[in-house]
Amino acid sequence: MEDDELYRALQHHLDRMPVAYPATESGVEIRILKQLFTPDEARLALCLSALPETSGTIHRRVRGEMSVEQLREALDRMADKGSIQKLPGRNGPRYGKAPLVLGMYEAQVNRLTPELERDVRAYFDEAFGREMLGPRTPQMRTVPVHKSIPVVHATARYDDIRRFVEASPGPFAAIPCVCRQGRALTGQPCRQTSEPHNCLMFGVAAAMMTQKGIARPVSKGEMLGFLEQADRQGLVLQPQNTADPLFVCCCCGCCCGVLTTAKKLPKPAEFFQSDFLAMVDAGKCQICGTCTTRCQMDAIAADDGPPMVLEERCIGCGLCVTSCPSEAMSLRTKERRPPPPNDMRELYTTMFKERFGPLGAAAALAGHLVGRKV
Ligand code: SF4
Ligand code: SF4
Ligand code: SF4
Repeated sequence: MEDDELYRALQHHLDRMPVAYPATESGVEIRILKQLFTPDEARLALCLSALPETSGTIHRRVRGEMSVEQLREALDRMADKGSIQKLPGRNGPRYGKAPLVLGMYEAQVNRLTPELERDVRAYFDEAFGREMLGPRTPQMRTVPVHKSIPVVHATARYDDIRRFVEASPGPFAAIPCVCRQGRALTGQPCRQTSEPHNCLMFGVAAAMMTQKGIARPVSKGEMLGFLEQADRQGLVLQPQNTADPLFVCCCCGCCCGVLTTAKKLPKPAEFFQSDFLAMVDAGKCQICGTCTTRCQMDAIAADDGPPMVLEERCIGCGLCVTSCPSEAMSLRTKERRPPPPNDMRELYTTMFKERFGPLGAAAALAGHLVGRKV
């Protein structure tokens, strides 16, 4: 297969995942793939499934070209480069293709190049942003900063990350934020924070990232300190969209790929899973303007009088609440609060069903069980 044909085949292969990898007119998606995969690696990635498998299962597709051992070494090299996923399993590690976000892009932390960063941001704008924000069940949800949570309602543990950390047995770890690294590389350093470690990991994810040498292990106390710092610095908390999240990102409206892409849309709130909305008590407002500058989503409109929350833009992060000097801002819970999937497996199964329909998802799962590539 010629190189152009090979990378186009890989684009089609990656496009058949819960988070799509669409073609563009500019061809930026192919430029990205050429930076992440050598031609040999692209050929191997074509043999991988969306549902991770053991090297033994994958070897049936490349038999004759290499031994199982050579295959495992090649897959490990690709996993180290962050171009495929590798998960621990009972019968040894399992390997699978990875989406661009959350996946290949985040794995470029500490080795991102300005060229890749520019191409990824251009791809967000041209086509990928729509796909990343498109799924009805998103990969991340937005939760309020602890002090902004209304006390009159019982709040689910996944909606109160501080409480979640307090109850978690750990381990915990912090990794540098790739979105901010990318912005800094292209001359646009973060306006909200100079803290590099803003992706906080829990449990198996923390252990895995620490073992890879990407994450720094941290104590529960440090973890709580990071969350307090995020509130002080005006960062939006975005955990994995599960009842038992493996990570929480502390994001800003100037660097985060998700927030910057969503902000360009007229009704960004439609694309976020959040149980809360901000509201103003005009009678208490001192018209100081703090909430408007704190809001990362341009969701607060203000002329001369008290501000107004634009509900179609508000993602319920609570940053306007914790900074209001007169308690005029508060959060209210939404009437409809669908619970998140229980864990990562349920999250991706749900996304798979939403993208390919129940029959498509069932066929993929049945194929996976008999070792067919999905
Ligand atoms: S999602 Fe947020 S914290 Fe995570 S890498 Fe992007 S900006 Fe950083
Ligand atoms: S108005 Fe802005 S700062 Fe306040 S909760 Fe909504 S998105 Fe967050
Ligand atoms: S921060 Fe509070 S007091 Fe200041 S403008 Fe906003 S609502 Fe009013």
